[in-house]
Amino acid sequence: MTNSNLDRLSVFALARLVKLSRVLNSATEPDELLHAIISEAALLTGSEVASILLLDSKTRELLFKVDSLRRSDLNNLPVPLNNSIAGRVFQTNSPMIVNSIRDTPYWNPHVDEAIGFQTHSILAVPMHDALSRPVGVLEAVNKKEGKFSDLDLETLSTLADMAGVALKQAELIEDLRFANRQLNDLDELKSNFIAIASHELRTPLSIILGYVSFLREVTDNPETASQLDSVLKAAVRLRSLIQDMLNLQYVDTKENRFTLSAIDLVELIRNIVTSRDDIAEAKQQHVTVILPSEKLNILGDRGSFEVIITNLLNNAVKFTGQGGMIEISLTCQEAEAWLCVKDNGIGISQEHLNLIFTRFYQIEPHLSRRYEGLGLGLAVVKELAEMQGGRVWVNSRPGEGSEFYVAFPIASRRPEPNR
Ligand code: ADP
Repeated sequence: MTNSNLDRLSVFALARLVKLSRVLNSATEPDELLHAIISEAALLTGSEVASILLLDSKTRELLFKVDSLRRSDLNNLPVPLNNSIAGRVFQTNSPMIVNSIRDTPYWNPHVDEAIGFQTHSILAVPMHDALSRPVGVLEAVNKKEGKFSDLDLETLSTLADMAGVALKQAELIEDLRFANRQLNDLDELKSNFIAIASHELRTPLSIILGYVSFLREVTDNPETASQLDSVLKAAVRLRSLIQDMLNLQYVDTKENRFTLSAIDLVELIRNIVTSRDDIAEAKQQHVTVILPSEKLNILGDRGSFEVIITNLLNNAVKFTGQGGMIEISLTCQEAEAWLCVKDNGIGISQEHLNLIFTRFYQIEPHLSRRYEGLGLGLAVVKELAEMQGGRVWVNSRPGEGSEFYVAFPIASRRPEPNR
């Protein structure tokens, strides 16, 4: 080959390699990658066919993964590490040019016999992963004209390097997809379990609550009354846990099926706070409510807003000590209504601030928890708010307290009175 021929071939090969590297960078399907590589391998080395063999880490055999002729009978055909050209290349981690297969002791006719093919010459190079560990072998088979040259070897080695790295990346992506699918399945399982458990627990609990409340009302015996009070308190706690589960199901089933109506947040907050008075009272907490003097309408699903406000309020009460301060305020910020539930309770450290809105996330370790709950309240708040165009965030410092904010677009406001 003259120098100018060599130059022309190199430029051609280089252009093809650059094009291929773009495919490798964008493709994430292993099959797509492998086919792109072997097509180039066959073309650039002037071979009849090119194929990739990858190591099966369990059986420690090389398996044919793809060939440029797309023969299905070759798929996953094993080649032993010992006693084969590909195996030798893999084990010695160095390329091999065999221009006549009769000249090498490593030739194994088993594959040719299995697929009815005739191999005359082979160029085989090792493929490596990003850490330079051998992962497989790239082969070009049957040079169409002349013999495999050092230039063919260089070209195939370059292709093998690109392929090894890209392939490993694609495998990692596949692993991630698999892990993600498993997580989703697990999540679905958990949600299904919660849906079933919450429904099954609700009915017997209502019966318990009904009878205990009745017995508590009719008893004159102070000792029995105190015992029934304990049962009642435990049953109410259980009801609140079941309510958390039901709320999660509400989020999952309500997606895209909300009944939207104009809700006056001022009235809604006032009603909820009044009905929740008893809990804060039990801890002698001071609850302040700061509301606009006028209606503040937003467009949303009433049930969702009740859950959002109740969950934030319950948390403020739960995570604030005896005699603590809780403030619920509603303000207009430009075209938005901002609900803020503030407490001077235990607070939250920086590293947990983003995580507490994740389903089942709780800061305290499960076995030594002081506060009851399932870790669902804030996830439900966030998901319900975002499904209706809202935003949720929190400012907090350990030992100083927390401020939870929820912002929603205002639907309509009465015109400001003329001054
Ligand atoms: P739960 O209250 O059932 O544990 P949540 O999803 O409502 O679940 O809250 C998740 C976690 O966030 C809580 O376990 C708690 O550690 C923290 N948290 C929530 N609200 C407050 C608050 N007002 N003050 C301090 N920590 C809070």
